[in-house]
Amino acid sequence: MDTKFYVDMEDLYGAHNYLPLDVVITKAKGVWVWDVEGKKHLDFLSAYSAVNQGHCHPRIVKALTDQAKKLTLTSRAFRNEQWPLLAKELCDLTGYKMALPMNSGSEAVETAVKAARIWAYKKKEIPQDEAEIIVCSNNFHGRTITIISFSTESLYRKDFGPFTPGFIVVPYGEIGALEKAINQNTAAFLVEPIQAEAGILFPPEGYLREAKELCEKNNVLFMVDEIQTGLGRTGKLFGCDHEEVKPDVLVIGKSLGGGCYVISAVLAEREILELFTPGTHGSTFGANPLACAVAREAIRVIREEKMVENSAEQGIYFLKKLKTIKSKLIKEIRGRGLLIGIELKPEAGGARRFCEALEEEGLLCKETHENVIRFAPPLIIKQKELNWAFKKVKKVFKELS
Ligand SMILES: *Cc1c(COP(=O)(O)O)cnc(C)c1O
Repeated sequence: MDTKFYVDMEDLYGAHNYLPLDVVITKAKGVWVWDVEGKKHLDFLSAYSAVNQGHCHPRIVKALTDQAKKLTLTSRAFRNEQWPLLAKELCDLTGYKMALPMNSGSEAVETAVKAARIWAYKKKEIPQDEAEIIVCSNNFHGRTITIISFSTESLYRKDFGPFTPGFIVVPYGEIGALEKAINQNTAAFLVEPIQAEAGILFPPEGYLREAKELCEKNNVLFMVDEIQTGLGRTGKLFGCDHEEVKPDVLVIGKSLGGGCYVISAVLAEREILELFTPGTHGSTFGANPLACAVAREAIRVIREEKMVENSAEQGIYFLKKLKTIKSKLIKEIRGRGLLIGIELKPEAGGARRFCEALEEEGLLCKETHENVIRFAPPLIIKQKELNWAFKKVKKVFKELS
């Protein structure tokens, strides 16, 4: 069967809520994937950073299959051995005292929002239903109704109202705007260390530290969404580590499941997460032993195989190399670790055609918004593979310029 067969079938029977490149992947190993026609590609997206450990990492696959043969689901009506072990290992890894497990990233963000609100009423004594959470323009935190309620992207919101109240939007990176927005009903500030979906946007240096200080001063929770930037993507374990700040509430997901399973978590101090009492929150699949066994191994391989260090080292190497490309179409190349964006000028005709041309060359990446090409290879990538990728990028820029 060829590509067209699957593309046509998907487009006929599957909802069109994505616009994927027309490459139908059938198997993968490490940084490489193969399509149904036998062509080999280098994965330069890593499933939006959910496959940071590389595809089908043998140790993670083994943890998955071993656990799958033993026990997969108990629900939280009963206990299993894997969740307490993962909870402790997550706390040991991050320095927090408690963890709350969910499945998708969106669910973990929703959980953080609920944590902020319950904390606001029980601890800060904000009047019922008046808690406010401050968020940033151009944020991306997921797709549920509450989360799109505080999105500033009309494509995510249009025709999906009415929306959840209680959110205030301030410009990303402007500390003065945050300061002005805080009032006695402010429960939390929710922010991404780097806005990946918005086009790899960096706040000014010191922003996260200043925001954290401001939150502390005003008794506001500093909540950071590290679903995409966390677990080594930016060359440190967390994006916030670049400014040495520790959020009050940390949200992780994506590569916590090692690309093999879906799992997310919210981490915080005990005085926040202990406010959830039986019945106030939950998920049937949350903390299932299969997800937990996979996550435990996913974390272990990141540390033992030095993926964070590799991300930092290769990120610096590749960014420097990319910056040698001279093209009139490039506005800016920016990145941290292995999260890199090439922003094109408006006259470049959009990032999509570059991604399509790179796909032809065997390099799989994806545009984010109109004009940014995002590069985010698995964190196990080697210099040799980056050199190969660089040649392809250089060639495509030459041809399309
Ligand atoms: C992907 C992502 C989410 C949403 O995670 P899902 O698993 O797709 O629900 C939230 N925040 C950020 C920063 C993300 O990159």
